[in-house]
Order: sequence, then C-alpha cells, then structure tokens
Amino acid sequence: MTRLALHGGEPLLKPVERPKWPNVTEDDIEAVTALLRRGEITYNGSEGEVQALENGYRSLLGSAHALAVNSGTSALHSAFFGLDLRPGDEVIAPAYTFLATAMPVFTCNAVPVLADVDPETGMLDAGGLAAHLTPRTRAVVVTHLMGFPADMARITAFARAHGLAVVEDCSQSHGAACSGRPVGRHGDVAAFSLQAKKQVAAGEGGVLVTDDRRIYERAVMLGHCIDRGEQDVTSEEYGAYGRTGFGLNYRIHPVGAALARGALSRLDAVLTARESNYSLLGALLEAIPGITPPVRRDHVDRVAHYVSYQPRYVPGELGGLPIDVFTEAVRAEGVPMSRPTSPPLHREAAFQSATWHTGTYHPGDNAYRVYDGTEFPGVDGYLARALRLPVYSDDRPGLMKGWAEAISKVVDNAGELLARHASGAPAAQGAG
Ligand SMILES: *Cc1c(COP(=O)(O)O)cnc(C)c1O
Repeated sequence: MTRLALHGGEPLLKPVERPKWPNVTEDDIEAVTALLRRGEITYNGSEGEVQALENGYRSLLGSAHALAVNSGTSALHSAFFGLDLRPGDEVIAPAYTFLATAMPVFTCNAVPVLADVDPETGMLDAGGLAAHLTPRTRAVVVTHLMGFPADMARITAFARAHGLAVVEDCSQSHGAACSGRPVGRHGDVAAFSLQAKKQVAAGEGGVLVTDDRRIYERAVMLGHCIDRGEQDVTSEEYGAYGRTGFGLNYRIHPVGAALARGALSRLDAVLTARESNYSLLGALLEAIPGITPPVRRDHVDRVAHYVSYQPRYVPGELGGLPIDVFTEAVRAEGVPMSRPTSPPLHREAAFQSATWHTGTYHPGDNAYRVYDGTEFPGVDGYLARALRLPVYSDDRPGLMKGWAEAISKVVDNAGELLARHASGAPAAQGAG
C-alpha cells in the first residue's frame, strides 16, 4: 500500500485551480456594454432586459407570471407577502436551509415553525409535517437543496389535504425537476435567487414565479410602485393601489437582468456538463467503501448540481473512522473535500431567544417558537455524514477519476488511520 500523504507520503494529486464561477461570457459583456452605451440603467415598468429575463423564466417553467426582483431574499419576502399572511399565521419551514428561506416570514409578522429533514437528503421530511399542524398553519416552504428536488409529490399532497399554500425555494436548483415537472411548478409560488453562486447568476437578483394572479399582484405591489404597479395590478381588489404599492423598491438592476438572461440561455448546457462530471464521480464512489454518492430519490427527474457535490460518509464501513480524520486524509491527497459549515436554523440565536424580535415583529397573540438546538435528529443525522466537494462546470473526467483514486487510497489505509487516531499519534491529532 502507498503511504498516505497525511502520514508523510506523496499526495496522489497535484493542486488544481478552483472552479471558475460565475461564468461571465463575452456575449454577456457585450450585452451589458450595449445597455451602458444606451444609458439603460433603470426600468420603471416591465421592459427591456427585465422583461426578457421574466419571459425566460415563464417559458422555462410554463408559469403564468414571473417577477424579477433584486435578490432571492426579496423573492421569498414577496412570496410570503403574496400569500397574504396575517399576524400570527404559521409557516412550516425546514430547520436545515439557507436562512432566507425562513427569515422573511418574520417581516410578515408571521411565525416560522421549523420542521425536521430527511437524514439522507437534508430536505424537508414530508412524513414529519403533521406534527407541526395547528389551527394557524397557513403554508409550507420547502428548499430544493444543492440542486436536488425535495419530495414535492408528498409535500403538496399533505398541503392540499390541510388547505396550506406551498412556497418553493428554488434558489439552489434552477433547472432541476421531479415527478414530471420542473422545480418551481409544484407549489403556489416559487422563489429563485440569482446571486453569483447560483446556476443562473446576475450577481444579485431574484425571480418570483406563480400562476396565481393574486399572489403576483401582491408581489408587484410590495416592491414595484408606479409604472409596473399601474401596468400589472389590474384586479378589482387591488387595481386602485398598484401605483403606490406598499412602498418598497425590489427592482432588479438592468445589468443584473442582462447577466442572468445570458446565464439562463446557457443553463441547460451547464447542468449537462456538471451532470456528466458528477454522475461519473458518483459511479466511481459507488464502488468505494465508506462513501456513497448523494442520495437520489425515485421522484428526482433531473439534478441541477449547485456549488457543492455532497457525498455521504459511511463510517461503519471503515471501522468507525471519524469523519474529520477521513476528510483530513483525503484533503492531504489533494482532493478539496470539506464539510458543511452553516449551522441549522434551530441553532441560530434568532431561533433560540424569546426576546430578540420584541418591538420589531408582532405576531399578535401567537408567540415565536424557541428552540434549544436538540430538536431535529434528521438534521443532525444529515450533517454528521455530509461531505462536500466543489462542482466544476467544464468537462473534467480526469479530475473525477483522480478524486476517486485518492479517496480509494485513503479507504485502503483506513485501518492504519484508525489505529493512529486511536493512539493519538500526531498526524491525525486535532482532527477528530
Ligand atoms: C442563495 C439562497 C437564497 C437567497 O438568495 P439571495 O439572492 O442571496 O438573497 C435563499 N434561499 C436559498 C436556499 C439560497 O441558496
């Protein structure tokens, strides 16, 4: 057996440059330059690059309405506002997600109620939702994590049975699909972020999509006063108020819209290239003990790999070798493997304090939930075994094979790693 790099051997791989993302092309630069030459740096109504971007999302998803906004967070806030939440209404949200999936619920004076996730996928566990139902439950928000679709068939069936709205946070999963439909087409309203890391990158930006006219009009009124409000808010209920709206400004910058429109035109090619790399890596990992590809449930039609590819660690197959020792040994061989670092929401101060929001948000006589961080075994199970590798968007079969070989080398030496770790020898110290 070859000596592990962690134990003073030669690393199996040479350093490789990190993935280049976002990919701003010459065409993007030309589109942006053309905008600047025309002085087209703001829009009041639905026009130009913004309209083109919205049309792109409507045709990608087949939805009736799309509204470009200045961030994914704004899209989520607009979605919750669109649902017409009342003070004290409850929205069930996954405990493991980016914070913007749940935090805008507070700004509606509504109550985010955290729920556990599937320990294998990290996504909202449909089977656990019933435990959180109360007479004030109004909606469920679900995140499609790391390009993998959540179990929408079961979540929407549950929501329908209990008269709840469904919000999809598609920020990490542009172009993914499940149960015969793209993500963003399963619930009542969906939010996409166009932040620089996302599959479609404006730098900063977002898109809300819905078929529901009332949700759309309320979203327009929240952040798009005067021209857009007058154009698009035409119902008997709201028509008179479109001009003033509710006074926020959530407009996307035309430069961001132009970058996102270009990126959207390349989305399919990017997802195909990523899938070619990571389906190869997944097939190679299947054959290596101690590690498995990310769990892909039967409902998944298309994965839209995001910035990280997340295999699962199986310590039982390596004699119980601690995940951090394994990861350190793999990194020493030249594979940029890491582990997720963001804490789940129920371990954030905002969900552990009964008082932080006092004087800011007013959920009526319904109080915000307080957590001690131990509530969700599914989250803990997911994080205990989650590994992370960077996602490359260009064709890299050699790199994928190299990674698999380096991981194999570590696995072959798991016994020695474990022995050294158990005896507290220096190489693995501080890692376990
Ligand atoms: C990126 C992201 C957001 C927020 O997007 P911004 O555009 O940065 O506001 C929301 N939810 C999830 C799951 C995300 O990954």
